[in-house]
Amino acid sequence: MARKGKMNTVMRKEARKRENEYLKELETKIQEYEPKTSNAKFFKDLPISTHTLKGLNEAAFVKLTEIQKESIPVSLKGYDVLGAAKTGSGKTLAFLIPILEKLYRERWTEYDGLGALVISSTRELAMQIYEVLTKIGTHTSLSAGLVIGGKDVKFELERISRINILIGTPGRILQHLDQAVGLNTSNLQMLVLDEADRCLDMGFKKTLDAIVGNLPPTRQTLLFSATQSNSLADLARLSLTNYKSVGTKDIANKDDNEPATPKTLQQSYVISDLADKLDVLFSFIKSHLKAKIIVFMSSSKQVHFVYETFRKMQPGISLLHLHGRQKQKARTETLDKFSRAQQVCLFATDVVARGIDFPAVDWVLQLDCPEDVDTYIHRVGRSARYGKKGRSLIILSPQEEIFLQRLKSRKIEPEKLTIKPSKKKSIKPQLQSLLFKDPELKYLAQKAFISYVKSIYIQKDKEVFKFDSLPTDEFAISLGLPGAPKIKIRGMKSIEKSKELKNSSRKLKALSKADDDGEIRDKSKEIRTKYDKMFGRKNQTVLSEHYMNITGNQEGEMDGEEDEDNFMTIKRKDHVLNEDELPELSLPSSIRAQKRALSKKASLSTKGNASKTVFDDEGVAHPVYELEGEEDFVKRGDAETQKEEYLKKESELMTTADSTDKQVAKEKRQEKKRKRLEAMRREENAEYSDDESDVETQVYLGTGNLSDDMEDADSDDEEGQRKRARFADSSSDDNDSKANDYGVTEIDAPETLEDLESLTARLIQ
Ligand code: ADP
Ligand code: MG
Repeated sequence: MARKGKMNTVMRKEARKRENEYLKELETKIQEYEPKTSNAKFFKDLPISTHTLKGLNEAAFVKLTEIQKESIPVSLKGYDVLGAAKTGSGKTLAFLIPILEKLYRERWTEYDGLGALVISSTRELAMQIYEVLTKIGTHTSLSAGLVIGGKDVKFELERISRINILIGTPGRILQHLDQAVGLNTSNLQMLVLDEADRCLDMGFKKTLDAIVGNLPPTRQTLLFSATQSNSLADLARLSLTNYKSVGTKDIANKDDNEPATPKTLQQSYVISDLADKLDVLFSFIKSHLKAKIIVFMSSSKQVHFVYETFRKMQPGISLLHLHGRQKQKARTETLDKFSRAQQVCLFATDVVARGIDFPAVDWVLQLDCPEDVDTYIHRVGRSARYGKKGRSLIILSPQEEIFLQRLKSRKIEPEKLTIKPSKKKSIKPQLQSLLFKDPELKYLAQKAFISYVKSIYIQKDKEVFKFDSLPTDEFAISLGLPGAPKIKIRGMKSIEKSKELKNSSRKLKALSKADDDGEIRDKSKEIRTKYDKMFGRKNQTVLSEHYMNITGNQEGEMDGEEDEDNFMTIKRKDHVLNEDELPELSLPSSIRAQKRALSKKASLSTKGNASKTVFDDEGVAHPVYELEGEEDFVKRGDAETQKEEYLKKESELMTTADSTDKQVAKEKRQEKKRKRLEAMRREENAEYSDDESDVETQVYLGTGNLSDDMEDADSDDEEGQRKRARFADSSSDDNDSKANDYGVTEIDAPETLEDLESLTARLIQ
């Protein structure tokens, strides 16, 4: 037994010695490795551990890609790295392998806490990186964790202290840095930013700076992207001073001859009026039913609208949609479905434009022009990954044609396609009838319209996105709407305000939903009720009952991926209703105002008495103000004298009314005073009684009418203050003197035996 134990110790010592030697050897190999002269082709040619190699092998990663070959050795040597390489060229492994290797060489254990942090711009991308890490890291003893928004923070909190490699989105990582007591970053060895330029841009600036502020400056930093910002200021924010730039020259140096898009990608464009874009899209889908397609649009609302309407038109291919406003569960499920399917069409926002590695996407379509060339590169990069073939099509309106020049300046020259006239089919009538039948769809169309127009307005490149020449009417009609909502752009102040009103807008929505739901449900019944008819009629106007939602601000974006704060109010230009009849479309700010806005009756109450009538002795109704005939008017003398007479009469009336008012007010005050004194006396009396609860219920001052009380508080004269001070005194123990303070002791006539007893008791006292 003892011998066996000794053997074990000896063996363990031996093993440790061997490991030490192995690590030393590895270290030397790394230092001696010359990336430039080496002709490594496989992962096994790199100075990396057998653990990692085994993991890579099992995941079928054998041959190095260009960026892996160039950047992994540099990262292993401990340099900060700015890595740029085309989409789908294997950047993920290029940063995950150095992480595993670094922590392995440092003999990292679960007790050493956080060793590496990977920041990704979207949840989906974070999940994907996490998956790749778990695939290749099976033979290490390190633990990895994923923290992204939309998941249970508590659950994450419990585990976070034991995590060695943390992957997440900026917001959630910062949240954990702020909250998690167990999350110790003081030991951090490596920081990685995937899609670095996106992580560094304005949207994430504050969050990222706050995260970096928590990290030790000694750590190694790796930045990877297909489009790299070389801004020195950005790099300085990460204290990236002595870094190595690696990757294909074409991206690092934008003047190079090669475009930043994959060679295996066949790119094309088509010119179509904005109002025909949906027709083109529908025809395209109809003629590519056996393909795997992603269609990019500029906002969640457009995605939602196109998805819901196209679904109803059944093009013959399964449709999916994905955007930042969906619940995380739905997003993940969609991602999964799309990855697995072979013939499918996904409508998406730019939330999946970057980094996501969907297998075998045949077509990337861009219905809306991307905001810049970088976004174009990332979008089309969802296809033609890892050397596979792929195709892309961008649909540009004649106004946006100048975007082709932007592409050309980055050596990207898609070929022109024209649509065969035989393939051109308008879906406008179908959309119109869909919207006519379904108010929910109409509501989606309105929202899609607004968010599209808004997206054009906020674009930076005003040459490409010409807000003023936007054919809004045609566009609205192409969505199936009867006409374009009138758009009013508010100033910056209002934007701020609309942000403030975010919550009240939600409440309002809840209120309006409660009202509307019933109507919508009724509609589904076969029998048309009176209610249905009314509703149908309502739906013929441009104004849907949801109009309140599209004025003011909508719900804010959950994870900052897409800033959808509204900055416009729209005023519906109506074809059936007279515009003047519409309530003002500004956002009600108080709950009372919200309720009033939702109730016709209540909203009229503030609009004066325009429709009020008075009845004469015969019971005939007259408007309050009636114009008299000119002849009658002239008969009564000339206008000037009549005016003077009128003014004189009115001013006399006013003076009398004024003095009456004053008198009334005085009386009211006196009455109030009297009541207050009475209450005080009653309270004093109660103090003599044994029942304590009585005392409590009697501590009341004022008339019982809240507004009267307020008025009184306003005209807080000296007397009032004195009285109140005295009343405060009355709560002190000194009871005896109080009855005399007011001179008179008023006592109600005794009605019962108890009254009489208490009165006697007081008198004796
Ligand atoms: P990027 O981040 O550059 O856009 P990814 O890291 O997402 O690219 O990789 C793109 C695809 O290439 C992924 O499906 C990945 O599994 C595959 N891949 C990456 N490196 C290799 C490799 N060395 N051998 C085989 N496949 C690889
Ligand atoms: Mg990537």
